[in-house]
Amino acid sequence: MEEKRNPTAVIIGASFAGINAALTLKRLEPGFEVIVLDKDDCFTMMPALYETAARGEGNAEISVSLASVAKKHGFTFFHDEAVFVDRKKRRVNTRNGEKISFDYLVIAIGARTNYYAVEGVEKHALNLKRRQDGEKISERLRLGLLRGKPLKIVVCGGGMSGIQFTSELADWLKGQGGGHEIRLFHTAPRLASELPEEFSELARKSLERKSVKVMLNTPVSRVMKKGVETTAGAKHDADLVLWCGGNKPPEALAKTGLPLENGYVATNEFLQSPAEERIFAAGDCTAVKTHDGKPAYQTVWNAVLEGRTAAQNISRHFRGRPLIPYSASNVPIVFTLGRNYGVLYYKGIMLTGRLVAWLKRFVERTYLNAL
Ligand SMILES: Cc1cc2nc3c(=O)[nH]c(=O)nc-3n(C[C@H](O)[C@H](O)[C@H](O)COP(=O)(O)OP(=O)(O)OC[C@H]3O[C@@H](n4cnc5c(N)ncnc54)[C@H](O)[C@@H]3O)c2cc1C
Repeated sequence: MEEKRNPTAVIIGASFAGINAALTLKRLEPGFEVIVLDKDDCFTMMPALYETAARGEGNAEISVSLASVAKKHGFTFFHDEAVFVDRKKRRVNTRNGEKISFDYLVIAIGARTNYYAVEGVEKHALNLKRRQDGEKISERLRLGLLRGKPLKIVVCGGGMSGIQFTSELADWLKGQGGGHEIRLFHTAPRLASELPEEFSELARKSLERKSVKVMLNTPVSRVMKKGVETTAGAKHDADLVLWCGGNKPPEALAKTGLPLENGYVATNEFLQSPAEERIFAAGDCTAVKTHDGKPAYQTVWNAVLEGRTAAQNISRHFRGRPLIPYSASNVPIVFTLGRNYGVLYYKGIMLTGRLVAWLKRFVERTYLNAL
């Protein structure tokens, strides 16, 4: 007689979307075997990475070992990279040669840095995407200061990421002696153009108050060892060039054979692949849209809620119950403009100030402690 086994759910990616999918699934379906794969061995609180990178601190306080999270919450963690998804055989092949069979799959591998093929950028600029990047930036800042001369820093990209990082950096440099210079180059006529105009103005004024030179309509076309060149041919010296140019879809998604939209995983409103009802996707790697057809913001909130929804729908699918749709339209956006100024934007209402910054940090620390 054939032995009845518990269903297996495999989750690729153990960040905001993947971990929340795993925790929710374990809570709803304790009998499921939940296997989570990540090529990194730690979860890092990305929104806090600006602070630690800019202030030259380590990441110990903002990272937690995935093996310990798995042990605490009863799922299996493999420190390994998924290299191929075999849809027909329902199997994930990994870099270490494992072939992991699944009944359900959640793809939660996030997005990659977009360098827009700018010359020299990958060679000479530093990028802040993973915890190791934060450590590299901290080290370069510390070494730079040791020379005893004011630092010249160029940040490329005035989206949410560039704005937050530049603000932290400016606050921190203020306490490190005078004369340091930060320039923020942005391609578009206003900062963070995906957000409402009032925010762009708020961010620009805040940065200028911190003595950052905000260069709008100024695309960078080349990054050199000691500076950048703009498309207009102007050269600007820099000791450190930081790239905050935005995201693009991971190349690995093309190998899944699943339908994609602009390179991201296409999903229906239930976060299910239209090609395969047992495959779900969540977080930055998806092409999820808001009700007016705009791409959902690639934020922690969306990743967390999509991860949870994907897990709820796996449970519902397993039990033959109707699936629940995900709405990315009313998700709050929370970020900081330096150490003591936070912004919360929700349903057209913007709250700003010290309390929001404090609240953001409190939520981040509480979240990490609960993992
Ligand atoms: C420096 C920084 C600061 C940010 N600050 C904010 C903020 O203040 N507020 C906010 O809302 N958002 C912020 N964001 C954006 C936010 O961090 C992302 O939207 C969020 O992390 C997306 O979560 P995710 O789980 O979809 O993907 P990610 O967090 O990108 O995680 C993807 C995971 O998949 C793993 N992975 C990738 N490929 C594979 C593979 N083939 N096999 C196995 N594992 C794989 C990666 O190692 C990673 O752990 C910030 C981002 C950065 C980089």
